[in-house]
Amino acid sequence: MNCPYCQQKAVKNGKDHRQDGTLIQTYRCKACSKRFNELSGTPMQRLRTPVATVSKALKGRTEGLGVRATARVFDVSHSTVLRWEQRVASKASEWSPSVPKETDITVEGDELYTRVKRNFPPSRLSRLDN
Ligand SMILES: [Zn+2]
Repeated sequence: MNCPYCQQKAVKNGKDHRQDGTLIQTYRCKACSKRFNELSGTPMQRLRTPVATVSKALKGRTEGLGVRATARVFDVSHSTVLRWEQRVASKASEWSPSVPKETDITVEGDELYTRVKRNFPPSRLSRLDN
């Protein structure tokens, strides 16, 4: 994993517990000495919902589950589901390589991006922003 600050190669630096109880790999950059974890700089960094939950929800969406159905299954509001999708779609290139291995994520960033784009054409997305 490369340092998100200076893009140099970083070394593993133990693991941290996240608030949701999952373990996360942390790294330290040899060049600038900054510490970060595998979610740093990704759409998941400041997410309150466990990454695994978001990933499963988005996987459901790529498998054809509707927004409202997804929201019901994961006990969140449908606007939350839409927000997750927009987050991931806007940073799809950063999502894929940063997916933690401990969580059983099977969604490929590119595939999800394509599907989200198809499901949510720009006109609809911009309307949601207003
Ligand atoms: Zn660095």
